[in-house]
This record gives sequence, structure tokens and C-alpha cells, in this order.
Amino acid sequence: MPFRRFHYPPDFRYISFFHNRKPFPIMQVRLISLTSPEIAIDGQRLTPEGLMAYCARVSSPHQETPDYANLLAYCIQHKHWSVFEMVDMTVEIVTSRAISPQILRHRSFTFQEFSQRYSKAQTIERYTPRRQDSKNRQNSLDDLDAETVRWFDEAQDKVARVAMEKYEGALEKGIAKECARALLPLATQTKLYMKGSIRSWIHYLEVRTNPATQKEHREIADEIRKTFVGEFPVTASALGW
Ligand SMILES: Cc1cc2nc3c(=O)[nH]c(=O)nc-3n(C[C@H](O)[C@H](O)[C@H](O)COP(=O)(O)OP(=O)(O)OC[C@H]3O[C@@H](n4cnc5c(N)ncnc54)[C@H](O)[C@@H]3O)c2cc1C
Repeated sequence: MPFRRFHYPPDFRYISFFHNRKPFPIMQVRLISLTSPEIAIDGQRLTPEGLMAYCARVSSPHQETPDYANLLAYCIQHKHWSVFEMVDMTVEIVTSRAISPQILRHRSFTFQEFSQRYSKAQTIERYTPRRQDSKNRQNSLDDLDAETVRWFDEAQDKVARVAMEKYEGALEKGIAKECARALLPLATQTKLYMKGSIRSWIHYLEVRTNPATQKEHREIADEIRKTFVGEFPVTASALGW
């Protein structure tokens, strides 16, 4: 079934979540910042990962040892987690209001989220439906028949169209954005900045790349993990990632 366009208000974007016919990325994740070490060893500025090892060796006479693979692996193995609090990483995440509350539960991070009180919501995302698992209430299975998928697609289209029309109508009548947003579905798109220590990212990624996490959230965590592996290859390898 091809992606369908509807006549929404000109600045309203309705994105498809379907892998095989997605006109937009299904979610967006972008590295925003990393702790930038000021110190150098042998004229070479430390990487963020090197900085964690340097700080871990605070009591050692060999603080400037260049190799740190065994050290970081030892710290992980012995749960010496504070070492991984020496460096922070911030990530930009574009997702829906269905997923952002799950992300916001990770209380050791600090966040900035798009304000629907201050700005107008622009986009409603579209989800691929899955079947409710009858044994595990927090699980879903990707084996729905085509007819049911089509029904859900149409239901999403209808809800998105009515919600956006009424939302726009409410704003035109002068109703405050903080009240008008009550008309929007959970699939409404949001953007967050999520900042935390590498310790927090390790545990977030362990939990949220696990199959127990909702698929749409897992896809975000999988993308962040790719960034993590690129920036912290020694730590990632010690974690078996
Ligand atoms: C599958 C799933 C289902 C859930 N269902 C519900 C639900 O039904 N209702 C509900 O209210 N909530 C639910 N939650 C949310 C969950 O209870 C937590 O609130 C959420 O995962 C945030 O975790 P956190 O409190 O550890 O915060 P985080 O910010 O991730 O961690 C807090 C601190 O603990 C540290 N930490 C975390 N794990 C470890 C570890 N293994 N070793 C050492 N340090 C660690 C972190 O580094 C950080 O410093 C669910 C979560 C998941 C993954």
C-alpha cells in the first residue's frame, strides 16, 4: 500500500512509520555533545574515554599510561561505576509522546523537551501495529494479518486528521496551546535533549535495547548504542557490545 497524503494544514507533517515505505526516518537520533578533555598525554589530547581512565587512575603513579582497556574492563566487572560518571553525553531524540514518557523516567538524566504550551505541534507519527501478546502484557508480536494492519492504518489516518483539524480550530478560536493540546493523540511528535553520564547511558542502553522494551523505544536505544560504540569503543567492547 503506497504512502497516502492528506490535505492537512500546510505546516502539518504526518509521517509514516512503515519501514518499507517510509518517506521520513522512523525516528531520529543525533549526537549533540560529549565532554571535551582539556588535558593531553604525550602531546595528544585525551579522548572522552581516555579521560575516564585518566580519572580512574587518580591514585596511581602511572596515571599517564596510554593503554586502558584492562582498566575499564576491570571497573565494569567490579562495578566501579563512578569512573563512568566523569564524562557526559547529550543526544537529540525525535520521537512521539507515546515514547517520551518512558525516556523521561530515566531520572539520572537531565532533559529539555519540546513545549506544546509554547509552540504549536506540527506532526503526528504513524505506527505499525503489532498483536497483543496474551501471556506477557508488556509484549507485542509482529504477526498481524494484512486486513487488521490496514484497519489500524485507516484508524490512525482518521484520528490524525480529526485531531489536527480540531487542534488547529481551537488555536484559531484563541484557545491556549496548553489547552488545545488535549485534543492531540499520543502519536504526536516531540523532540528531546537527553544528557547524562556514561554510567547512566550504559544502564539506559542495557535496559532499553533489551527485547522487554517497546520496539519503538528499542529502535531509539539501538541507534544511540551505535553512537556509543563509535565514541567509546573500549568501554563498548568490555561490555560485549
Ligand atoms: C521493560 C520495562 C517496563 C517498565 N514498566 C514500568 C511500569 O509498568 N510502570 C512504571 O512506573 N515504570 C516502568 N518502567 C520504568 C522503570 O521502572 C524505571 O523507572 C526506568 O527504567 C528508569 O530506570 P532507573 O530508575 O534505573 O533510572 P536511570 O536514570 O536509568 O538509572 C538511575 C541510576 O541508577 C544507575 N543504574 C541503573 N541500573 C544500574 C545497574 N544495573 N547497576 C548499577 N547502576 C545502575 C544509573 O547509572 C543511574 O545512576 C519500565 C521499564 C522497563 C525497561
